[in-house]
Formats: sequence, structure tokens, C-alpha cells
Amino acid sequence: MTDVKTRFAPSPTGDLHIGGIRTALFSWLYARHCGGKFVLRIEDTDRRRSTPEAIDIILDGMAWLGLDCDEGPIYQSHRSARYGEVIQELLDKDQAYYCYCSREELDAMRTEAMERGEKPRYDGRCRVRHGPPPGDRPEPVVRFKNPPDGEVVIDDLIQGQVVYQNTELDDLIIARADGSPTYNLTVVVDDMDMGISHVIRGDDHLNNTPRQINIFRALDSPPPAYAHIPLILGPDGRKLSKRHGAASVLAYRDQGLLPEALLNYLVRLGWSHGDQEIFSMEEMIRLFDINDVNKSAAAINPDKLLWLNQHYLQAADNQRLAALFEEALKKAGLDPADGPSCRELVAVQKHRVKTVMEMLEQSRCFYEDFEDFDENAARKHLRPPVLEPLQALQQHLSGESDWSDKALQGIVERVAGEYGLKLGKLAQPLRVAVTGGAVSPSIDATLRLLGKARTIRRLDRALDYIRRRAAA
Ligand code: GLU
Repeated sequence: MTDVKTRFAPSPTGDLHIGGIRTALFSWLYARHCGGKFVLRIEDTDRRRSTPEAIDIILDGMAWLGLDCDEGPIYQSHRSARYGEVIQELLDKDQAYYCYCSREELDAMRTEAMERGEKPRYDGRCRVRHGPPPGDRPEPVVRFKNPPDGEVVIDDLIQGQVVYQNTELDDLIIARADGSPTYNLTVVVDDMDMGISHVIRGDDHLNNTPRQINIFRALDSPPPAYAHIPLILGPDGRKLSKRHGAASVLAYRDQGLLPEALLNYLVRLGWSHGDQEIFSMEEMIRLFDINDVNKSAAAINPDKLLWLNQHYLQAADNQRLAALFEEALKKAGLDPADGPSCRELVAVQKHRVKTVMEMLEQSRCFYEDFEDFDENAARKHLRPPVLEPLQALQQHLSGESDWSDKALQGIVERVAGEYGLKLGKLAQPLRVAVTGGAVSPSIDATLRLLGKARTIRRLDRALDYIRRRAAA
């Protein structure tokens, strides 16, 4: 097989979405699988719609996911001279021509074609018109001379054989009146110059492929192999909406997803290996083959993404998670110094949540005081009968210098025993007293993470609350 070289070629005109990332992943994986090379190319020739922010999202997103490139990022905006050279080459070879048609002329052509019941297409009149016509004419565009007959056969690695008749394709514009090259030209020049062996992209580009192949041929360059990946659909099987994954790749990061979870999730959208769900990066690289990608569209499944993230959270190194958690804390305006070490916290919480964001929400009480008790939890658990046992607990805890899970568990058990209470009947009121709500890690870990001073203080507050309630 020829040396494999793939590319990811996003246009920085909007957010990089889940579909784009999957395209990037498939291209990257295939290159890695084959021991080939992967190129990142920023298609920013549309100066009006390309933004530096969108470029940053692409670069940050790729870096976050670890989709490293061997060449690039290459910016199309830096390659104008080269595109100009190829346009001139096509003109010199009589494979392209200047078109002076005015807007009115083109509009009339379109109307006439539609009146004849034909598809509107450029009729090629400037092919035979030599030089500018008389009168006031706009600056010319350059059109490619598409072959007038014959067909283009694409042996797509995913879609199978797709055949286009040249009569369906008109002479497309390759340079605008201002001289700037158009998409189909720049892509061909780049794929040719960069020696791309496999173009892996969304199937929304399938219609461009016969045109691009014709340009390759006009340049005496063999076209690459093509693999057009089907769309990603929403969970309902309909078009993907913002809510369900049309969000920017960085939104996934900010939600507290781990990159390996997102990649594992994406690789299974349209590709499978038996019924295996969990793939390490190394396994993905070893097993992935572009030829095995499914021809039909895949629907996203947000629950599966969370399930995978939970899996990877539990497997993740605590130090790494602590850094992520600390960042999330700070972003939320909390001070890591106001609570337990982040490492201690994540060691407990990573088994209880699905995302880092959820971890943050479940851990606020360890870093800041809660405003009010959760109403339902307090009504149910902070009742006059637990006043005495909670007081006894507070006393024991105040005198305890060993703030370990084992010692803390021992105290709760002992007091529960003294009052003839089942452990849960004491632990749950205690939990509500010290965290404000009914959900937290095991009671010993909860107390340990809160620390002694905070635990005692919060018990004071809860005891007051119960006394007031008893008096009411
Ligand atoms: N720049 C194009 C896009 O973002 C992709 C071009 C290609 O992959 O050929 O849709």
C-alpha cells in the first residue's frame, strides 16, 4: 500500500462540533493505524467568515483530545500564491477559461434552464468566447473546463461505488473576480501538494468529489482514495441539534468530560468491533479501519457518553483528576484552600459521579457553607427525637483527635448503639446536619473531608435548628 497520509481540514467559520471531531478522529486513527501521517489544515480562505476564535477552538480542541498532527497546522490563507500558480497552469493548459458573464446574463441563463425544466447550470458560453466581449463587463472569474462527457466513478471506501455523469457537472468557478480561489480548487491543490492518500470527510462533501477528481486529472495528478462518513443524527434519529451534540468540542471539556471518554464514545458512532464498548487509545489505533465504518448514519446517545465518562473517571489517576477538580472549583469561585485537599476529595467522589462538573456540584459543601438546609431533607431528618443523639455525637467528636474514617465510623456506631438506633437512623440526620442535604459520600468519609472544626460548627447550627423546631 502507498504511504498513508490523511488530513483533517476544518473551515474555521464556526464551532468545532461533535461531527467534525469524529471526522478528525477517524482520519487521525486511520493514519496511526497504518503507521502513516496526519495533517491538520485550516481552510481559512473565506476571510469574511473565518475567525481567530474558531481557529483557537480547533487547535485547543485537538490538543485537548490528543489528536496530534505530523504536519500543520497549515493555513490555506498562507498559500494564495500557490493557488494562483495552479489557476494559471490550468489556464495555460486550456483546462480553464475566463468567464465574463454578468450577473444578468447568468440569471437569464438560470431562468431559461428552469423554464425548459432543466437543472440550472452554467452553459459554458465563455468557453468559446475569446477575450472580453464588447461593452461594460465585470472583472472575469476563472472557470474550470469540466469534461463535457464521460463519467466519474468514485470507489468510496465507505459509500461503495458512486458514479457521476459529467453532463451533470458544469464548469465551476475556481477563481473569483477578485482572484481569490474557491473551495474545490484549494482542496485539490492542497491534497495534491501534501500528498494526501486518503480523504476522509463528511458525506456532505460527496457531491464535490467528482469535480475535485476532474481537477486532479486536469493537473495530471492521481486523485486520493475517498471515504465519506455518514452524518451523526440526534438521539431521536433526526438532525442533530445544539442541545444534543452540535455544541462546541470545548463545551464537552467544560462540562467535565474526559477526552478519552469522548473519543471512545465517538469511535463507536459508525464503527464497531464486535460488541466491545470500551476501547483504550491503543486498542482503537490497533483495531480501527476506515473500511469498516458503517454506511448508515449513527445516532448519538448522551447516556452512553456519560456512562463512558463515569468509567474513565473511576479509572483516572487521582492526581490528574485533582488538577481538573481544582480548576473547576476555582472557576466556580471557590477556594481550594477552604476545604480538603483536592486529591483526598476526588479519591472519594470519583466513584459517585459521572462528570467533573457533577463532582463540583456534589462537593460544594466541603468548600463553602450552605445557606439553608434542604427543606425536604431537614423536615424528614432533623426532628426533635434526634436532638439528644446528635448532641452526644457532637460531644464525642469534639473530644476526638483521630479524624480517620475508622475512628469516625466507630463514634457514629457507638452513639447509635447507645441510643438503640440503627446506624442509618443516626447517620442520615448527621449527614443532613453537616452537609445541608441528604446526599454525600459515606458518613465517615464525609466527616473526614469536612474536617473537625467545620463538622462541629455545622452540628451547632443543626442542633439550634432542631431546638427551634421543637419550640415552635
Ligand atoms: N473545509 C471543509 C469543511 O470544513 C472540509 C474540506 C474537506 O474535508 O475536503 O467542511
